[in-house]
Amino acid sequence: MGEFELIRRYFLRGASSPGAGGGSGADAADGGTGAGAVVLGIGDDCALLQPPEPGQLLAVSSDMLIEGRHFFAGTEPAAIGHKALAVNLSDLAAMGAQPLGFTLAIALPAIDENWLRGFCGGMFSLAARYRCPLVGGDTTRGPLAISITVMGQVPAAQALRRDRAQPGDEVWVSGPLGGASLAVEWRRQGITGSGPHESAARRLDWPEPRLELGQQLRGIARAAIDLSDGLAGDLRHVLAASSGALELCAELTAEDIPVDPCLAHLPATQALSQALSGGDDYELLFTALPQDHQAIRALCPTARMIGRIRVGSGILLTGRDGKTAPVEATGFDHFSG
Ligand code: ADP
Ligand code: MG
Repeated sequence: MGEFELIRRYFLRGASSPGAGGGSGADAADGGTGAGAVVLGIGDDCALLQPPEPGQLLAVSSDMLIEGRHFFAGTEPAAIGHKALAVNLSDLAAMGAQPLGFTLAIALPAIDENWLRGFCGGMFSLAARYRCPLVGGDTTRGPLAISITVMGQVPAAQALRRDRAQPGDEVWVSGPLGGASLAVEWRRQGITGSGPHESAARRLDWPEPRLELGQQLRGIARAAIDLSDGLAGDLRHVLAASSGALELCAELTAEDIPVDPCLAHLPATQALSQALSGGDDYELLFTALPQDHQAIRALCPTARMIGRIRVGSGILLTGRDGKTAPVEATGFDHFSG
């Protein structure tokens, strides 16, 4: 099989089968937008998309996954396909955007049809759930690497930017943290099992982009970011982006930070530090006015208010003993150390 037959057999259905969110596109469920943006999908030199409606902005983001760096060699292909798209959709979620479509650039060491079937199964079932058709891409031979670019739209005045936090805002996370990074440790050590091992592995391999929540937070959240590099690191990004004439800090309360139940076997301080610094959970971190507290609880039962934004510097954590100390942890950085 050559490159073009591979594209036709595995990737073309993304833009042609209605089940994958392409083709006829718009219907009541996506409010007449979303998948309806694709005028011409895979097969020509470019895909052609309808620009967003007046008053909306186009949201664009890319994320690349490299074997051995972002996922373990031998990871189930369906999980790789799912995650490659999920981490991109998570960026749209963090802006409050609604998906329109995506492109896929992929390097494959060889044509392995079993692998491709699994990969496409994971990727296209997520794409179908969020009506985000594959509209184009590039296919080449090389060490396994996957780069996806997603496009979405968001009402211009309601994009959830990371530079909008203000003193007095409450700080929220949308769900439990630390599970995915624990799964990385377990996998490195070759530890497998049921119960917490399975649920941690699910957090790592099958992250669920918080797209509905992101869109529901339009007009409510002030600043938002998705948690890819760890709570402490990503919160620092929000503080840095939102600090202007006033430098901002975050005061967090240790007992309010939602620790993933699969960390229950760890001593409390170790579990907390994993929840603060472990990456890959893809929950949303956002800030909002205290007056919206009840509305947020009603929107997202798993959301926890973990602290407040104030004038100051860094991240301060108040422990169960009532003592407050600065948090040293930073986020994951591919080029540090
Ligand atoms: P060109 O040479 O014009 O850049 P290609 O030969 O690379 O086009 O690709 C042919 C068509 O197949 C294009 O429409 C391209 O977007 C699409 N395509 C190639 N690889 C992929 C892929 N991995 N996923 C989706 N579409 C792809
Ligand atoms: Mg061309």
